[in-house]
Amino acid sequence: MTEHCCQMMKQNAELVCGEHPDRFDCPDCLIHYSASRNAYGIIIHDGGSTFVSISYCPWCGQRLSDECADANTRMIDL
Ligand SMILES: [Zn+2]
Ligand SMILES: [Zn+2]
Repeated sequence: MTEHCCQMMKQNAELVCGEHPDRFDCPDCLIHYSASRNAYGIIIHDGGSTFVSISYCPWCGQRLSDECADANTRMIDL
């Protein structure tokens, strides 16, 4: 089971409603999580399966992906 950064992310990434078996058809599904790429994205409801990848959680602000973190590497050195 995947560990998400916070409860809001967990709810939104795992939400599947009864009416829309395809999450990209569901207006209540905000976040797409790709386990294979370990990437998160905001679902664009344009009738296809488009999503915009995000680097930070919109709720708690945690960094989600290290793939495109080069620019931030020096800033975030905790
Ligand atoms: Zn979060
Ligand atoms: Zn739905």
